[in-house]
Amino acid sequence: MGTGYMGKILMVNLSDGSFEELQIPDAVYEKYLSGAGLGGFILYNYVPADADPLGPDNILGFVSGLLTGTGSLFTGRWMVCGKSPLTGGYGEANCGGNFSPAIKRCGYDGIFFTGISERPVYLYIKNGKAELRDASHIWGTDAIETEKLLIDQHTDRRKPKVACIGPAGEKRSLISGVSNDLGRMAARSGLGAVMGSKRLKAVVLDSAGKIEAKNRPEIRTLSEKCNKWVQFQPWFLSGKGVRILGALLRMLPVQTAMDGMLLKFILRKWGTIALNQYSIEIGDAPVKNWGGSNLDFQKETSDTLNPDEILKSETAKYHCYSCPLGCGGICKGKFPSGESHKPEYETVIALSAMTLNNDLDSIFYLNDRLNRAGMDTISAGSTVAFAIECFENGILSKEDTDGLELTWGNTGAIVKLIEKMIAREGIGDILADGVKKAAERIGKNSSQYAMHAGGQELPMHDSRFDPGFALHYAVEPTPGRHTIGSQLYYEMYRLWTRVKGLPRPWLMYLKTSKYKATEKKAIEAAACSKFMNVLNGAGGCKFGAFIGADRMPIFEWLNAATGWNKTPNEYMEIGKRIQTLKQSFNIKHGIDPKSFRPNPRTVGQPPMTQGANEYRTVNIDRMMTDYWEQFGWDPGTGNPAGAARDIL
Ligand code: SF4
Repeated sequence: MGTGYMGKILMVNLSDGSFEELQIPDAVYEKYLSGAGLGGFILYNYVPADADPLGPDNILGFVSGLLTGTGSLFTGRWMVCGKSPLTGGYGEANCGGNFSPAIKRCGYDGIFFTGISERPVYLYIKNGKAELRDASHIWGTDAIETEKLLIDQHTDRRKPKVACIGPAGEKRSLISGVSNDLGRMAARSGLGAVMGSKRLKAVVLDSAGKIEAKNRPEIRTLSEKCNKWVQFQPWFLSGKGVRILGALLRMLPVQTAMDGMLLKFILRKWGTIALNQYSIEIGDAPVKNWGGSNLDFQKETSDTLNPDEILKSETAKYHCYSCPLGCGGICKGKFPSGESHKPEYETVIALSAMTLNNDLDSIFYLNDRLNRAGMDTISAGSTVAFAIECFENGILSKEDTDGLELTWGNTGAIVKLIEKMIAREGIGDILADGVKKAAERIGKNSSQYAMHAGGQELPMHDSRFDPGFALHYAVEPTPGRHTIGSQLYYEMYRLWTRVKGLPRPWLMYLKTSKYKATEKKAIEAAACSKFMNVLNGAGGCKFGAFIGADRMPIFEWLNAATGWNKTPNEYMEIGKRIQTLKQSFNIKHGIDPKSFRPNPRTVGQPPMTQGANEYRTVNIDRMMTDYWEQFGWDPGTGNPAGAARDIL
């Protein structure tokens, strides 16, 4: 009987083509779990402080989750990790699909690459035997075609699983990611560029090794209980009704605590696109490069993004490995190249409200185009919005933009600009590395229009609507993430039902209270970070976690898989240790944690004077200090210092 984890990793040196298996002691899993924790452990210990993110000393890891393949639900996510060329610090991105169990079936919890290959290669593992193969014939091919070609080439009785980069990663775009399952992207941190710099086109896995767990019957019982919550699905509103709900809630002075089951109902019916218009109406979606509001993108304009309209193109639901919910979808008809994944909320808003483009066909087209290129849709849309604002303010002219009239809502120009970014051609070459680099290249005080935290373009959740987002954008070792915590997320995780000492949120509260920095909020935010480290160590999906820790038994699954007998509080300590490890990586690599403070506009400095978020300012500096204090780090600098030595 096993323990959920495989107990070893594969190190591949691309410079000399050698392989080495490393046994990982049980104590490492007990301290860091697997997934992002194991990835962080390897990077912290083996990437030298002066490593160039795009040089041979950087390490790129593909890591599975501890619970992947054990029979637990929502636990099929894999992580790619490495020193980020976008932030200069710790980088990771995780993704669903079917790649995570394939790593473990090869006998490893993770596969890590060092060095740089002389020529394009891909890693091929068949029945546990690893080899590097020539990838010259697929270098330059888009990510979806690459995956199809490699599957065709290597299918006998089984289809292999593939993770790969597209042309954006090959061209070392700092906003490129890694793709699997025909266009699902581990998009953030710019790790596609690291893969491209190593001339590693793909990882192709085809093995059928067993994934063992200590107590499978117990896992099955827990999964059956969890699945009952997932399958409960009442009649629900129409897409139009969701928008109206957003508008009504915006007008109320009070807010009720969110139960994530409501979000689950929505995700099951529409996926994340359900939130398109709702989020614009309520003030959650940034508009016009964070300088506009819901009043700039009202119903008459945004109706093209109605989720019911998008669903008309969906021909099948898409489920990641071990997922009973299936928030994804396969769409046909709208994509010039045939069928593709349904665009996500983040993609839709980045390509619509952020640029005032309401042409749905262009959003479908660009979603497919960017997935094929292997470029982060959030960062691409944000960079276009930045460029439009530069154009509006005379910082860029038509001579600079190769003749493009970069105005708000100009669909044709937006499409052409993104094509140029993918090709790194003309103005596209200046923009292809995201807003921070673009502002450095353009100069002329254009950085005021660059909406990022530590180099990472901000996601599509407005921190003036939920100040918890602002905090996590600023303090996470991987800054600018919407996937870790917010005030709303804390309500949905329901951690107080499992973790002793955590506060229960008020059922109803004044909206104005969200903007007061308090110790209670810092405790809640720290809990979100710790919990997400546990979830990412397990390979868990946050949409599953949103139904609540009392309904998705992540702590209990971990005990049943490993045979440990840890309490939820002990798992949260592991989450704290992983956070400290990642922060220590950043300190080691010369990052000043305070430099991750996001663009002042995004925290209401100065405040908006109209719209859903009018007159709202986030006390970000106080919140950052309070948060670091909760970890026992230096509250003034965010440096773990002594705390790191104590727990690493
Ligand atoms: S809820 Fe969505 S993202 Fe999460 S595992 Fe299921 S299909 Fe994948």
